[in-house]
Amino acid sequence: MSGTSEENRECGIRHTFTVKVRDRLPNHYPEEAARLAHWCNVFDAEGLAPVVGGASAGNLSFRTPRGFMITATRSTLKSGLGWRDFVEVVREDLLGWEIHVLGERPPSSDAFLHGRIYAARPDVGAVLHGHDDVVLERADDLARLHGVRVTAQARRFGTRMDAEETAEALGDGSFVIRRGHGFAAVGKSVDEAGALAVFMHREAVRLARG
Ligand SMILES: [Zn+2]
Repeated sequence: MSGTSEENRECGIRHTFTVKVRDRLPNHYPEEAARLAHWCNVFDAEGLAPVVGGASAGNLSFRTPRGFMITATRSTLKSGLGWRDFVEVVREDLLGWEIHVLGERPPSSDAFLHGRIYAARPDVGAVLHGHDDVVLERADDLARLHGVRVTAQARRFGTRMDAEETAEALGDGSFVIRRGHGFAAVGKSVDEAGALAVFMHREAVRLARG
């Protein structure tokens, strides 16, 4: 059983932290932003970021020299996104629950989760979070067969506990299942993380078919 609640599906849509806009324009990282836009399309096409309440539930980012570039809150991932549609997070304050950004829109509600993973894993250049019911249902099989990590218990998304526990569960792995919620795939690049997300999805579908 996935145990995904409707409330917990609004991930990427509702953020609780304070956003401080340092500049309206994000930095321009043309190649990485184009790859991020590409994988936003793939996530939509593969059903890994289902539309809930008029926006896609999922969030994708890549590391930048100052922090990371991430999809904005209430993004619709399918519609040919460009670099101005992304937000650059340049500072996170976990204690003050503040995020400082360059860009026109608030970042994804999961911005702290991305930040925790980048802080813990210097080797990671991209973090892709999506929702995949079949992966949730096959979590134990994927853990056994592919070394996928699974969080100990379901947490309300977008909270400090969720961010910290998910980063901790990921450890030195490359794919973590947020129990009752979704998954995060990481890699050196957006392409590497994206390919891993699609691979796990297809593996889960194969296992579900028996
Ligand atoms: Zn989510």
